[in-house]
Amino acid sequence: MITIIKNGEVYAPQYLGRQTILIIGDKIAKIGNVKVDKYLDLDLEAEVIDAAGRIVMPGIIDPHIHLIGGGGEGGFATRTPEVQLTDLTQSGITTVVGLLGTDGTTRHLTSLLAKARALEEEGITTYIYTGNYHVPTPTITSCVKDDFILIDKVLGVGEIAISDSRSAQPSLHEVAKLVAEARIGGLLSNKAGVTHFHTGPGKEKLTYLHQLLEQYEIPASQLYATHITRSQALVDDAIALSNKGVYVDITCSDDTKEWIEYFKKHGGKMDHLTLSSDGNGSLPQFDEKGQFLGLGVASPYTLFEQMVRTAKSDQLSMEEVFKLVTSNTADVLKLNHKGRLIEGCDADIIILDEEMTTPAYVVAKGRWMVKDGEILVKGTFEK
Ligand code: ZN
Repeated sequence: MITIIKNGEVYAPQYLGRQTILIIGDKIAKIGNVKVDKYLDLDLEAEVIDAAGRIVMPGIIDPHIHLIGGGGEGGFATRTPEVQLTDLTQSGITTVVGLLGTDGTTRHLTSLLAKARALEEEGITTYIYTGNYHVPTPTITSCVKDDFILIDKVLGVGEIAISDSRSAQPSLHEVAKLVAEARIGGLLSNKAGVTHFHTGPGKEKLTYLHQLLEQYEIPASQLYATHITRSQALVDDAIALSNKGVYVDITCSDDTKEWIEYFKKHGGKMDHLTLSSDGNGSLPQFDEKGQFLGLGVASPYTLFEQMVRTAKSDQLSMEEVFKLVTSNTADVLKLNHKGRLIEGCDADIIILDEEMTTPAYVVAKGRWMVKDGEILVKGTFEK
């Protein structure tokens, strides 16, 4: 199967100008001077899409999404539902990293792994973090290190909760040992081996991560903190951490654009920043005494929506914004075949509509999931 996307404004995510992309099977075969007629003359199934006037970019990577749901902080009725395939593809998301949250009793890593495998069978690319909020953290094989080595989809551990009333309040040393074990597991399986931190609203902010770098033999590349826009003080701390080489992640919400502008203006390292949806996670509200007030559920679409809103910022370039959901995320997760439009990479590509309101075309591993706004592939039980 040959697919040619011609005349698009290509962001790889760096801006390449008007280019043509040749896809053969599930890979990007060529970008640039593609002799379209020659490929059409081959007696093979072939398709040409004219993307003139439209932005063509890598499929979005969502590094933090509750694939089997999360929540439950307000009792059983507040457990959030599973993600469906088209929740992702209609958001331009072609790669996800699924994870557990607060609940490690009625949510299991084996269920998360099965869900990730199901979504992969349905057409996108999936990974998971082993563990959840707690330390010691749950695992599949009874050992974090072994989870990395024995389970292909495990590329990190998390989300480990810090600075939060829902955290298990681990000691710094307990966290250091967990990060070290993940690193060793990552080394032995040639994966990122990152520890992904859920940062709560607590007064300690990211102190633990600074201390891990100062007091232990832990490379900055192993630490990856999310939910960093809870307060200006927390963003300032994340800026400091990014300058030490730690990747930090913003959970998308209505103020994402303003926080990214703030991050850049105050010296944050833009190539160490990513965006995520926290999709299907709960959005609990607590009062100042930690009492539960109410609950919402996060949508994966927020990631696309906030990417587009931020891309229109006059303080940021489009390629700078697109990197936050593609190449930066691929770099922290060591996904060398993802997040870039380069020959040999997986053919995960989205084409935005002219107004940039939807990902009008979505290709995942060379297969059309959405074409001209129409959903071509649905999840097994989607109607
Ligand atoms: Zn979280």
